[in-house]
Amino acid sequence: MKKLVVLGAGESGVGAALLGKQEGYSVFVSDKGQISENYKSELNAAEIEWEEKQHTEDRILLADVIMKSPGIPDSAPLVANAVLKGVPVVSEIEFAGKFMQSKSICITGSNGKTTTTMLIYHLLKNAGVDVELAGNVGTSLARQIAEGKSPEWYVIELSSFQLDGMYDFKADIAILLNITPDHLDRYDYKMQNYIESKFRIIQNQTEDDVFIYCQDDEEILKELGRHLLKSNLLPFTQKDILKSGAYATTDEVIINYNDNIMSILSQELSLQGKHNLYNSMAAGIVASVLKIKKKIIRESLTSFKGVEHRLEKVISVKGIEFINDSKATNVNSSWYALECMDKKVIWIAGGVDKGNDYTELMPLAKKKVKALICLGVDNSKLLNSFGGVVPVIKETTSMKEAVQLAYQLGKKHDAVLLSPACASFDLFNSYVDRGDQFKESVRNL
Ligand code: ADP
Repeated sequence: MKKLVVLGAGESGVGAALLGKQEGYSVFVSDKGQISENYKSELNAAEIEWEEKQHTEDRILLADVIMKSPGIPDSAPLVANAVLKGVPVVSEIEFAGKFMQSKSICITGSNGKTTTTMLIYHLLKNAGVDVELAGNVGTSLARQIAEGKSPEWYVIELSSFQLDGMYDFKADIAILLNITPDHLDRYDYKMQNYIESKFRIIQNQTEDDVFIYCQDDEEILKELGRHLLKSNLLPFTQKDILKSGAYATTDEVIINYNDNIMSILSQELSLQGKHNLYNSMAAGIVASVLKIKKKIIRESLTSFKGVEHRLEKVISVKGIEFINDSKATNVNSSWYALECMDKKVIWIAGGVDKGNDYTELMPLAKKKVKALICLGVDNSKLLNSFGGVVPVIKETTSMKEAVQLAYQLGKKHDAVLLSPACASFDLFNSYVDRGDQFKESVRNL
């Protein structure tokens, strides 16, 4: 019997364990932290052995294959030892992919993955396509396969950590939205390592497959030059006119696939902002490739509700609009948030700095931000960067206080934008907790 060891008992780990068991592996799950009660009962019910708060290395290294959860870095000694011993260490997608009959649309990028994944899913569902959602959003792919779900298509959000452990897996349609610095701590602080990780999205693709990417992204263009691609290339851009792919004019988005051209007024798209224009273009190309009717594409791109915590309009209080963009955990995503503001902004930012460089935000901050409210344990980087650029800067350590302060500073027609450019773990459990607290504080005003 082949031995599968699963490191990390979160959604993807437990999913892989269940799938492995079903496929006849002897499965052992090991988590250095505490395993949540619901996952423990699931593993028990499936008669899968597990351990928590430790890794029994001797046993783990006897595995034929190790599935590593995305949160565990390659540099963890246990993982390094397994690799040294020649035990294959793979991600959940790689493991689950071996048992997948469906075709896949895989989305990666530094920002916009969840939004674009949900948008594509919404579009295909509206068109009546047999489709399921997997990856970083919702239920893991492995679990769904274990449950016997075999739709025609899976729409799968892939983080770079999932991509790192991917070797034989192939995306039938791959989407690369953008590459900007993020998670560099996991890539030896080398941007090139991170870029190569993102490019694994196209590995194993053949001439029957499709690669959709942002042509305005310099990192993507540079790296493309280093690959001999067989896939059908369908780029999208806001700077050019394309014969094949998608582009934007001043007021329209044009999608052109195999001389089948369609256009949509940009102002009708439900997701606004330059970044979302890219996301809508990527989704529109996928829909065209799948030969979905133009009418349905248009309807879907204009009816999508958006995803919580991503430039989510909360409410207006006395003419001040409150916007929750808690998921903006890096500088680039906050750049796009500020870029699409058409009002004076009171900006709530800060948290755990991931080696941020705020230089690119300066022109936008100068032009649009009337006050900056720093919400973090250590705000020194923000204070040093924006002192002298933004007229008013305040520091707070609670969301309630930040929102009240923003409200006091605000005037009719201003916007209060929570777009932190930082991770949340100094003051909050997660970006979801941060966004929820923001919304609650706003509603209590
Ligand atoms: P991810 O899943 O890659 O983290 P999300 O869709 O959750 O992406 O969005 C994360 C943040 O990035 C949000 O603040 C969102 O407004 C912003 N964002 C969304 N799409 C893009 C894009 N194409 N480029 C840059 N930022 C984006």
